Amino acid sequence: MLTRFAPSPTGYLHLGHAFAAAEAFGRGPCLLRIEDIDLTRARPEFYAAINEDLRWLGFDWPEPVRVQSRHLSDYGAVIDTLAGRGLLYEDFTTRTGQENRDLPPAIKLSTPAAIKAIGTDRLTFMERERVVTIDLTKLEDKTVVRRDIGTSYHIAVTHDDWMQGVTDVTRGQDLFEKTRVHVLIQTLMGWPVPRYHHHGLVMETGEKKMSKRRGSMTIHALREQGLSSEDVLSMAREQAGTG
Ligand code: GLU
Repeated sequence: MLTRFAPSPTGYLHLGHAFAAAEAFGRGPCLLRIEDIDLTRARPEFYAAINEDLRWLGFDWPEPVRVQSRHLSDYGAVIDTLAGRGLLYEDFTTRTGQENRDLPPAIKLSTPAAIKAIGTDRLTFMERERVVTIDLTKLEDKTVVRRDIGTSYHIAVTHDDWMQGVTDVTRGQDLFEKTRVHVLIQTLMGWPVPRYHHHGLVMETGEKKMSKRRGSMTIHALREQGLSSEDVLSMAREQAGTG
């Protein structure tokens, strides 16, 4: 088995990341992957801080670490493959719901075309020991090329999980719904569907997802306050919801 911890370097790691990292690294051999395709938000200093914080927490991973922004052509090739099979279309609708042909379009994956291509509207994946069935007739068309970054999380994450031989995806419950389009892309590309393990999230007063902006709870800040890595990990565990 092989899993991964795949943070985006858009801020300092916080308690929620400490919990997520403990879940991933605690399950067995685990890769670190830097998901920085959103170059409008990712910053190199955060990548350095991720390394430092994870080492301080006591985690270890094989080198080299895959940094997604260095592999944009790989994601472009996946998009070309899907486009070549007639599964993608341009969408000029903006966030406000209006059509604007002055901006580059977003590229969407047509779920109806995908259903035709794979010959079924039902797919399954394993969530831990449980089989989850996906009803593709209820899956709206998803953006696979964002107009601002030229690719998307859905393409990069599925490509890399396949390319790196990840058998078990460990990640937060907030990404559970996204698994539907990930399994669809994996099926279209002929990639094995990994087993999924969506874990609970560290909550702020049991409601809101922990935000990276809450500076006082960064791992770095907690370390500066004199807490040990064990303290930080047990704090994270205490505050995590059940997945
Ligand atoms: N990079 C994503 C994040 O920081 C995680 C992606 C995943 O684990 O699938 O939330």
